[in-house]
Order: sequence, then structure tokens, then C-alpha cells
Amino acid sequence: METLYIVIPCYNEEEMLPITARALIAKLDMLIADGRVTPESRVMFVDDGSKDKTWNLIERFHRSCELFTGVKLSRNRGHQNALLAGLMAAKDHADIIVSMDADLQDDINAIDGFLDKRAEGCEIVYGVRSARETDTGFKRFTAEGYYKLLEAMGVEITYNHADYRLMSKRAVEALAEFDEVNLFLRGMVPMVGFKSDIVTYERAARQAGESKYPLKKMLALAVEGITSLSVKPIRLITTLGIVIFIVSLLMLVYFLIIHLAGKTVAGWTTTVVSVWALGGLQLLAIGVIGEYIGKIYLETKKRPKFIIETNLEDDPQS
Ligand code: UDP
Ligand code: MG
Repeated sequence: METLYIVIPCYNEEEMLPITARALIAKLDMLIADGRVTPESRVMFVDDGSKDKTWNLIERFHRSCELFTGVKLSRNRGHQNALLAGLMAAKDHADIIVSMDADLQDDINAIDGFLDKRAEGCEIVYGVRSARETDTGFKRFTAEGYYKLLEAMGVEITYNHADYRLMSKRAVEALAEFDEVNLFLRGMVPMVGFKSDIVTYERAARQAGESKYPLKKMLALAVEGITSLSVKPIRLITTLGIVIFIVSLLMLVYFLIIHLAGKTVAGWTTTVVSVWALGGLQLLAIGVIGEYIGKIYLETKKRPKFIIETNLEDDPQS
């Protein structure tokens, strides 16, 4: 039997947390009673520097029931960093770790499926949502388009899989070897390799609180996904440069022919348009390259990805 840790990053989730805690404890109790996981299994909340009562709630859960534990980050570091912090904290105690969001949008009963796959020897099991009916049309459209874009960029990613997955201790330890500070976990986990499989489930709507991923954060994560896993955008710029050069050669020939035919060219328009078009393209190209240089800048600094303020696992009472 293996020890399971369920890791949940939480940012300002005071409305959702009591509901989530109740559902998860019932699930974990059942898994323990059925002898599927050891009684040392835990639900681990990671407080990502919440400004509301999230941490107070986590501490209260921990005091009232030993199955709850928690880690508090020193400040808000974002979902991906908080999740990694949780995985790293959990791997010291767990044999298998399931990560999920605090909003219960991911069906917790899929964990049974995860454990079945684990019993078949999988080191990583990806939760894949079968339907997106509960997401808004806009979110669905952007999210599905995004997975397609990532694929086109050569990023190996599981379609419609977010951060709901099971990883073995071995897989998490392998993930810990990835030193990068620009995190896009769902793109990095497949790089770990090992035997893996998927379990599909239906995604529900958020029951309380609101999405902590406003459009701005969503776009930031989207850019992160592409630029930290693929250099195709830079190659595309090179291709674009070559194409534009060829077009300019064709234009040169065309204008030469017109000139020889004795027709005057309306010079102003062509000049102004080409100056602006090329200027715009150059700025875009510099911007894309700058994005990568920014990444290199951050990577060379090697700043810590998260700082743990309190770890309830170190609590002598527990
Ligand atoms: N989250 C976090 N730090 C942040 C933003 C979000 O830990 O800075 C957590 C949040 O509490 C939730 C998960 O990340 O558990 C996913 O967020 P959310 O459900 O709001 O995203 P959505 O499902 O709308 O994409
Ligand atoms: Mg959500």
C-alpha cells in the first residue's frame, strides 16, 4: 500500500476551502478504509500568500483532523510555483501525489481511476477533461485553441489536461531535477517520461469564489507555455525575414519592369507602406527575441521559485 498526498494550491479560497476540505476528507477516508492508501495519507493545502482567511482555515483543519496538513508560502508566487512547492514538500512523505485545484472543478472520483493506473505500474497519470460544457464559451474557445497552438509549436502536451494528475515519488523527484525558474508544469511533466496514462473525467463549474485566473494571468501563462518550451517563434521570425526578402526582390523586378515600360510609379504610397510594414515587423521580431532574453535573464538569476514560511508537517504536535 502506498501513501497518498493530495496537493492543492490555494489563493484567496476562503469561500471554497470548507467545501473542498469536506469533499476531500470524505474521499480520503474512503480510500483509507478501502485499504487503497495508507492511513498516513494526507490532504496538503498550499497557501500561495492569500490575503484572506485561507491560511487560518488550513491551520484550523490541521488542528481538527490529522489528515489535513498545509504549507504556507511567504508571498503570492502564482499557481505553478505554489503547485511545485506543494509537490516538493509532499515528496518527502508520500509515495504518490495527486495535484488538483481548490475549486473542485476536477472530479475527485477520478482519483480511483488514477490509483487503478498506478496499480498497473504508471508513474504519471494525467487527468483529461472529456467535456468543457461548464466553461464559458470564451474560455473553451481560447483554451482549446491554445492547446492546438502549443502542438503547432512542437510542445509535447496532453490535450485538455490541466494540473490534475497523479505522480509517483520517483516522477516528482525527476521533476525536481528540472532547474528552470520559468515554470509551465503541464509541459514539463511529459519530459520526465516513465510509463504514463490518462484518465478522463467531466469538469464541473466552480462552486464558490471566482476564477483566480483573469485574462491577464491566463495570457501570461499562455506566453510562458510557448516561450519556455519552444524556440519556434524565433525560427518563425527567420522564416518571415527570408519571405520578406524574397517579396522585396519580386517587387524590385516589378517596379523595374514598370519603369522600363515608361509608366510612373506612385512613389509615396509604396515608400510609406513599406517603411511602416518593415518597421512594425522589426519591432515585433525584437519583441519576440526580447521575450527569450528576458527568460534567460531570469534563469541566470536562479532566484528561488518559492519560499516556505510555515510547514505544518514540521509541527511537533502532529
Ligand atoms: N491559484 C494559486 N495562486 C494564484 C492563482 C491561483 O495558487 O496566484 C490557485 C487557485 O486557488 C486554484 C488554482 O490555482 O486552486 C486554479 O485557479 P482557478 O480555479 O481560479 O483557475 P481556473 O480554473 O479558472 O483556470
Ligand atoms: Mg478553476
